[in-house]
Amino acid sequence: MTQVLSFEVQGSAAEPYSVVFKKRSETNLSAYCSCPAGENGQYCKHRFNILDGATRGIVSGNLDDLKVVQSWLVGTDLEKALVRMRELEAQADTINKALAAAKKEVAKAMRDLSHNKRVQDGRKVATPSCFLPLASRVADEPTRHRRR
Ligand SMILES: [Zn+2]
Repeated sequence: MTQVLSFEVQGSAAEPYSVVFKKRSETNLSAYCSCPAGENGQYCKHRFNILDGATRGIVSGNLDDLKVVQSWLVGTDLEKALVRMRELEAQADTINKALAAAKKEVAKAMRDLSHNKRVQDGRKVATPSCFLPLASRVADEPTRHRRR
């Protein structure tokens, strides 16, 4: 009953890695990869790419088998796990973008223009124009020209 398909995938090592898929039952598809991560039972992109239908790195020439492996995936526990991973990746992407925007807001809120004014001998030195709001920068233009 068990069906087997294998691919040779060129990775970072000189020898291509062996990726072997075994369809054991309607709900079980196993995937083995001979790369270091695969041998340690960890996630690796070689198996994921094939399940994703990507031909990248496949040197065994059996590209038609990709569709067979993808059809084996349907209805398996592995498919459920992959769907869950994809959902979380999408959420992580949204969160990372929101986090980057929030960090910008924090940096903006932390700005204290008074720190940009240096006090020398009790006399305040004008804030460099690049730190002033655009409106006052424009207003300052004629003054600065006159000084030169
Ligand atoms: Zn691998």
